Amino acid sequence: MLVRCAHCKTDIALYQKVDKGRLLRMYLERIVRSSVDLSNKPAVLHCPNCNQHIATRMTLKRKSTEAYVMVRGAYNTRFL
Ligand SMILES: [Zn+2]
Repeated sequence: MLVRCAHCKTDIALYQKVDKGRLLRMYLERIVRSSVDLSNKPAVLHCPNCNQHIATRMTLKRKSTEAYVMVRGAYNTRFL
């Protein structure tokens, strides 16, 4: 799944989605690649082109895994 900025259409990330539902969050471990450097796990994901706020990082306690919670309306998705 390709995740793009809704504002300027810049590619944000290539994400390995397991179901066909709407994208609400991106698990860090399933982000195949990203145009944003995620190596230091930034707390907020911004579009590298227009600085639109795309997602906010959170730790899911139950699974002790990290995910980016998507900001509604800030992104578009497309299945490849
Ligand atoms: Zn943008």
